[in-house]
Amino acid sequence: MLTKGRKLLSQSALLGKSLEELTNWVKEQKQPAYRGKQLHRWLYQKGARSLNEITVFPKQWREQLEHQPIGRSTIAHRSIAPDETRKYLLRLYDGQIIETVGIPTAKRLTVCVSSQVGCPMACDFCATGKSGFTRNLKAHEIVDQVLTVSEDFQQRVSHVVFMGMGEPLLNSEEVISAVKSLNQDVGIGQRSLTVSTVGVPNQIPRLAEEQLQITLAISLHASNQALREQLIPSGGGYPLEQIMADCRDYVKWTRRRVTFEYILLAGFNDTPDHAQELAQLLRGFQTHVNLIPYNPISEVDYQRPSKKRIQAFQSVLEDANIAVSVRYSRGLEADAACGQLRANQNQ
Ligand code: SAH
Repeated sequence: MLTKGRKLLSQSALLGKSLEELTNWVKEQKQPAYRGKQLHRWLYQKGARSLNEITVFPKQWREQLEHQPIGRSTIAHRSIAPDETRKYLLRLYDGQIIETVGIPTAKRLTVCVSSQVGCPMACDFCATGKSGFTRNLKAHEIVDQVLTVSEDFQQRVSHVVFMGMGEPLLNSEEVISAVKSLNQDVGIGQRSLTVSTVGVPNQIPRLAEEQLQITLAISLHASNQALREQLIPSGGGYPLEQIMADCRDYVKWTRRRVTFEYILLAGFNDTPDHAQELAQLLRGFQTHVNLIPYNPISEVDYQRPSKKRIQAFQSVLEDANIAVSVRYSRGLEADAACGQLRANQNQ
């Protein structure tokens, strides 16, 4: 399916720009148009970090452009969990640090990208929110994370999930640009891209407008409004009823299913009654529910439910004909699992 045209970017970094934009840029530099294609290939396929590396360019031009920013980060730190998940702390041009995770499985390499430095949502169970919010990422800073992981694994990235630091829909325009670049420039299929959100008013319709074929995942985490507001402070400004209505419209517009994520916190939202209530909330909705057993963080004392309890919750949903899976997060040992990301080298 065709996606709407990409907005021309004014930022100076070259990464994140489309073939058309790069071609315009080389023409501005009084170079022939075909150099745009070369530049595109060197940025996205060969991972050039400076223009001086691009040996197909004339030497004199390369030297002139040595200081032109490309927009790549540097790896400040990397840790590898026993399950081979790799967590990176990446240093951005202004010294800010973000986290990115590379998750290899037999046939896939999934990258979990950050969309903001920190996060203002302050969800009670999430480590990222505990250290506050610094700034939004630019589209190229999101694309860079994927290239960096691909280079480190020396492997093509097959999937990208926006489940790192930050709330993607508080940074919708840059996230949408990044999604388009990952698809058109890096070559990752739209169906292999997932944007996860706790919900931001008006932003689900904004995303729907783009008619992308990506997966939208909603971090629901509660089966009723009161419970949700205890976990997610921003939940009060965007009632469940409105979120569900926006999701229904999203499905109509995009013809894609919406996925719901539900973190399981022992004794808080994990009883069979909660599961019933959740099934009721999702009635008539073609969906998939991802149950995420809580990953411990130090600031709060929630507990992960027992396996038995998780299975009981799952069964109630299955009996209501809801497709459901349990996501045992990977990378726990490296503090790289869902909700454990924070820009701290000393954890
Ligand atoms: N802000 C976005 C994306 C980042 S979080 C969102 O909320 O969807 C990615 C997923 O990890 C979300 O579903 C989030 O709720 C979940 N998560 C956060 N903290 C967690 C924790 N301690 N244990 C398990 N999952 C967690």
